[in-house]
Amino acid sequence: MSFLLSCPNCGPRDVNEFHYQGEVTRRPGADPTLRELTEYVYFRDNVAGIQREWWYHRAGCGSWFLAERDTRTNEVLQTELPPRSDAGAAAPSEVAVPDTPAV
Ligand SMILES: [Zn+2]
Repeated sequence: MSFLLSCPNCGPRDVNEFHYQGEVTRRPGADPTLRELTEYVYFRDNVAGIQREWWYHRAGCGSWFLAERDTRTNEVLQTELPPRSDAGAAAPSEVAVPDTPAV
């Protein structure tokens, strides 16, 4: 299946130019329980509907960005660069940029 995904830097491109990293997760607090850690590492919501997720433009600018995608239709509603930790506007501790995948 193919669809267009709009990189915040490069514009609309074929989805095969990108790497899907999964849904956005929330890191547990500073002193998490074993259950909180287990849920963070192993469990995902896997919604049938609009999901916020990480994408990497591997065949383009090499940027990580966030997308809101309807998992039922692959319609991409919005893409944006992640909030910068020094911007202070968002909650960067809740948005961890994943490691760059090996290509
Ligand atoms: Zn790009």
